[in-house]
Amino acid sequence: MDQPRKIEDQFGRNHNYLRISLTDRCNLRCFYCMPEEGIEWTSREDLMSLEEIYEIAKTFVDLGVTKIRLTGGEPLVRKNVEFLLRQLADLPVELAITTNGILVDKFIDLFEEIGLNHINLSLDSLDKDKNLFITKRDYFDKIMGNLDLMLNRGLKVKINAVLVRGVNDNEILDFIDFTKDKKVDMRFIEFMPFSGNRWEPEKGISLAEILNLAESKYGEKLTRIEDAANDTAKNYRISGYKGTFGVISSVTNPFCDTCNRIRLTSNGRLKNCLFSNDETDLLTPLRQGNDIVPLIHQAIQSKKKVRAGMDTLEQFSNPELNEDNRSMISIGG
Ligand code: SAM
Ligand code: SF4
Repeated sequence: MDQPRKIEDQFGRNHNYLRISLTDRCNLRCFYCMPEEGIEWTSREDLMSLEEIYEIAKTFVDLGVTKIRLTGGEPLVRKNVEFLLRQLADLPVELAITTNGILVDKFIDLFEEIGLNHINLSLDSLDKDKNLFITKRDYFDKIMGNLDLMLNRGLKVKINAVLVRGVNDNEILDFIDFTKDKKVDMRFIEFMPFSGNRWEPEKGISLAEILNLAESKYGEKLTRIEDAANDTAKNYRISGYKGTFGVISSVTNPFCDTCNRIRLTSNGRLKNCLFSNDETDLLTPLRQGNDIVPLIHQAIQSKKKVRAGMDTLEQFSNPELNEDNRSMISIGG
């Protein structure tokens, strides 16, 4: 039977955005992502080769994927990543990357050359010591230098900050002020539960809390910006500021209705939802020379309507349910 050239689920959601994790290794140890006790690294033989990544990506593009984001772990620590970047840039897709920024200076010429100009940079604090506390590594100056480098070269930068109560929630207004002179889209991400990251519902900061704070400081200068299609953030601007800010609240305000995302882990497992423990092995059948297209359709057909079936906040807050997943570092955010 002919397979449709569109990856649609049973709720009519068209999946045209693929996020590929290139590695589960990283040069940082952010506490909300990498469990303190460590993880079992994917062995070299289990890791998709760069050629396999390209082949799988091409299959997805043939099925209607129009955007590919590279993530990890830290995608830029993957050996010979430049080879893959060049190949993927030739596909008819918007190519994007999520990075902690440490290695950006080594790749910026290549980004420009291949037209990779959508960069999400993770930065959870504007304070050097706090950054060290969160990431457990001392790269703050390097990351800030690379942020300026990207902005000077005219790249479109979104900054992801995971807000955790008692850690960096006192910096919300500092981050918004940061958008005054820097042309960045600041995005506050609600802390999400994954295996081994000691999440508790009280540690998350909601959209309402952020807006109350912003309103009390900026009053009528705070304005809502219209959402782009499939945008996961609610976006705002302080009038007169160069940048914008947005809030992504998967915990208190899930955006599953418009979800168009598929994730591929570095060992070639398709995840139909960030929070789902169901994985479909694409790598083994690919290595055996089998067609992976029917497997992709089956995996997306079995996608649940909301957060892998954890519809309510009560279910989502239950560790027996929300910890039954990989840690974020091995999923690829
Ligand atoms: N190393 C790259 C980076 O840090 O940008 C890419 C991988 S990282 C897993 C992708 C994104 O996931 C980052 O923006 C990070 O902040 C986010 N993330 C990781 N753990 C998270 C959690 N528990 N809750 C919310 N976001 C999380
Ligand atoms: Fe590494 Fe990114 Fe996870 Fe931090 S958030 S540990 S930089 S993968």
